[in-house]
Amino acid sequence: MNTLYLHPRDEIVMTMERIYRYKMTTTSGGNLSIRDENGDVWITPARVDKGALTPADVVRVRPDGSVDGRHPPSSELPFHLAIYRVRPDLRAVVHAHPMALVAFSLSHRVPETRVLPLAWQIEGTVGFAPYGIPGSEDLGRRIAAEFRRGFDSVIMENHGVCCGAADLQAAFRRFETLEFTAKSIIKARSVGPVRRLTPEQLRLFTRVQPSLRPFRRDGITTREKGLRRELCDFIERGYRQRLLTSAAGSFSARVGDDEFLVTPYPFDRHAIEPEDLVLVRRGRREQGRTPSRAAALHRALYRAHPSVGAIVNAHPVHATAFSICNRAVDTRVIPESYVLIREVSRLPFEMPMTDPEAVARRLTPSNPAAVLCNNGVMVVGRTVLAAFDQLEVLEYTAEALVDGRALGRQHPMPRSAIADLRRAFRME
Ligand SMILES: [Zn+2]
Repeated sequence: MNTLYLHPRDEIVMTMERIYRYKMTTTSGGNLSIRDENGDVWITPARVDKGALTPADVVRVRPDGSVDGRHPPSSELPFHLAIYRVRPDLRAVVHAHPMALVAFSLSHRVPETRVLPLAWQIEGTVGFAPYGIPGSEDLGRRIAAEFRRGFDSVIMENHGVCCGAADLQAAFRRFETLEFTAKSIIKARSVGPVRRLTPEQLRLFTRVQPSLRPFRRDGITTREKGLRRELCDFIERGYRQRLLTSAAGSFSARVGDDEFLVTPYPFDRHAIEPEDLVLVRRGRREQGRTPSRAAALHRALYRAHPSVGAIVNAHPVHATAFSICNRAVDTRVIPESYVLIREVSRLPFEMPMTDPEAVARRLTPSNPAAVLCNNGVMVVGRTVLAAFDQLEVLEYTAEALVDGRALGRQHPMPRSAIADLRRAFRME
């Protein structure tokens, strides 16, 4: 959705609903604000149920300090104003108490964002503000001092997190990406040592941009229309199931020979419409659209494997925990996992960017899932539904493996059981 035309009252309510629905705050915690072109700050009210906020509840605070609203403004108004004073470039602030970031805040640490290239690109380095009494001017000074140093996301000691950006959508994206990164790091610590990307690897990620030439399209088939709808439905479902975040994940579906639909770059996975998807035909992009950065990689896979009908890149928390430890997910623990996703490959970070053909040799219809080191996971399927199902099974398996560690040693199925499975399900 284009939020450019939304009134601050509506945008604040929509964003708050999203934060609450996806369990990234409690009903009393969390506040959002937008500073408009007049210098008016629109902010969530104090003591109103975050699960039942309406546009009329949002409060306007004018530059002279006068307040316009049916409720008092959030008690954290002082730090919102303090941030805006030191950072004229910021137009929106998100503050909340999501579990993983609170865990970091009470450990007095900040998440290492260099574990995932997108997290690094969206967050940069994260600041840390020493404790202050909630609602106090003192807390405002402490947080603003970190924003003045250039941080756009700040962990607040024994409290929560604050993210700022040029608009509310971008501030939310920062907030959600940081919470996902924090969750993945926490889960990863029970899997193995967390690896962070080197400066060269981070440079490689920012350097590789799609440079597909455009083509002018003529007409659209019913099959393509149907696939556009189907892909959108699964992307929204993936977002709801927390397999995709607003900023991360690309999904594509084959339309024909050397022709596929792919998610655009950039876009919000929470609200995608069929017309937002981009058709890539013989290595060229539909005129006027920018495809996902994974488009060249997806093309190599479609060309190498005619039976592949859909491909997804994603960063679900538990599978990503394996990704940032550079470990594969062992599927030989549950029959359903082994039958559906077989052996999971582990691909070096650089490979998807530098050698798509090599990825196509490792990620095949018989080995349809791979952990991309420090970049989430990738799955291929015959259909959109099959790819989605395999992604879900991969994430559930990863979650069982992570959680199972708290119970002691894990027992993969014996070789004989795997051999029986291969025979029973006629796996080549
Ligand atoms: Zn708070």
